[in-house]
Amino acid sequence: MAKLYFYYSAMNAGKTTQLLQNSFNYNERGMDTLLYTFKFDDRYGEAVIASRIGLKSAANVFDKHLDLFEDISKRLTDNTACIFVDEAQFLMKAHVKQLCQVVDEFDIPVLTYGLRSDFLGEPFEGSLYLLLWADELVEVKTICHCGKKATMNARFDSECRIIRHGEQIDIGGNEKYISLCRKHYYLGDCKGGNKK
Ligand SMILES: [Zn+2]
Repeated sequence: MAKLYFYYSAMNAGKTTQLLQNSFNYNERGMDTLLYTFKFDDRYGEAVIASRIGLKSAANVFDKHLDLFEDISKRLTDNTACIFVDEAQFLMKAHVKQLCQVVDEFDIPVLTYGLRSDFLGEPFEGSLYLLLWADELVEVKTICHCGKKATMNARFDSECRIIRHGEQIDIGGNEKYISLCRKHYYLGDCKGGNKK
């Protein structure tokens, strides 16, 4: 029986690297994979999943209007062994339901990778429903500058002050976000941040 997996963490834990490595492992054994990423993220150009350590792969994109069940149905072949979704926090509730349907009807594993919470510590829609409905929840760990597990994604300004208001989606990397433990998130201490 195939399962729906949610690999969750704070930022910079290496989720995308894991996704690309896992996909590569399938490909190396002659099996095909289907990769998806969120359309809004154009950091590395459209339809590419790229990790910070240099791995990358072409990918299909989803936006809020795409019916993932229908799209996957069209792209599946007899040789498709696994489906990967990066930036899974940006899935809509309906998308998560569609991925459950893919797992249950096609008996094919779906591995999703995303952030557990946003820069205010609030849930993303995709992560919320993945946490509720995925068969397997796997935490990918990363650490705060103090050495404790980082669970929060702080967004900071040019003065390295933590931003406490704003839109949920503001695409960025190390220049804008830092992973912190809960204590240092609430203390507002982003010491060790990658301030430019
Ligand atoms: Zn800390």
